[in-house]
Amino acid sequence: MTSRLNRLAVALLATALTTLGLTVANPAPASAAMTICYNTSQAGSYASVANQAATIWNNATVNLTLTANCGSNLRIYRITGGGSYAVRTSLGNGRVYIDTQQAAQYSVLRIMTHEIGHILGLPDNYNGNCSLLMSGGSAGTSCTNPYPSSAEASRVSNLFAGTFSATDRSADIFRDSWPSTLTPVS
Ligand SMILES: [Zn+2]
Repeated sequence: MTSRLNRLAVALLATALTTLGLTVANPAPASAAMTICYNTSQAGSYASVANQAATIWNNATVNLTLTANCGSNLRIYRITGGGSYAVRTSLGNGRVYIDTQQAAQYSVLRIMTHEIGHILGLPDNYNGNCSLLMSGGSAGTSCTNPYPSSAEASRVSNLFAGTFSATDRSADIFRDSWPSTLTPVS
């Protein structure tokens, strides 16, 4: 009996040490929260839209905070023609381009939060579902929803907590989320 208890005690001690070791090796998740400084110096009249999109993402997620003009993790550009798109250089870093022509067709806030979503690790999901942010223009011009679904938001939170695959953190370019609805001249 005594030896069984001793073995139990040793096992518990080992577990405690392992837990302690892991705690020392990996800082608490809270300390790993990333501040994403977004820069609106090139955003022109869309700077306020960027601020709204940042608030939406900050309210929907944990482990990251989008903050205006404290640095340049993310640069926001107002462009005309060529389509809105995002260039992710790494998770939380990159550039977002908002096309004024598409902003005249689709909700500019939905475009902004969608493109920032790419910077935050989300891929496109063109299934036409307006309740999803990453369905982009596939949900049509009448869809003005600028909010990520709970699944989209929790995926971002988990990505910034350090879980999920490296693929979602890698450099990538996301184009063609907002197809032109103009009738081509034939
Ligand atoms: Zn997209």
